[in-house]
Amino acid sequence: MSGGADPLSVSLAPDALTLQWPDGPSSLAAAVLRANCRCAPCQSLRLRGETIEVDAGVSLVDAQPIGHYAVQLRFSDGHERGIYPWPYLRALGGAAAHSAGSLSWRADQQLARGASMDSRTR
Ligand SMILES: [Zn+2]
Repeated sequence: MSGGADPLSVSLAPDALTLQWPDGPSSLAAAVLRANCRCAPCQSLRLRGETIEVDAGVSLVDAQPIGHYAVQLRFSDGHERGIYPWPYLRALGGAAAHSAGSLSWRADQQLARGASMDSRTR
């Protein structure tokens, strides 16, 4: 019996963190991870009930393992103290898969790129 679910491997790309779990992979978009950042400033924003604004173009800069239980992520907007334990990442991955959160971020970026519908006005 396995006690905790640890990822078999973790790979970092600018737009996403991909984790290989014993029962399958999950990929978390940088914007999803950033929206769920657990650094002190973000935590205090949440405690005050404020919305955490995320730049859709935010990217992952670095990932440092914290012992055997977590990873610390650094983002392009300067947030670098968010520590993500494996169970937290696993929960985020499940939520993202169900709500297709990571997909909509990508779709937004593609829409922005091809947004030249101004010519349709009058
Ligand atoms: Zn943060």
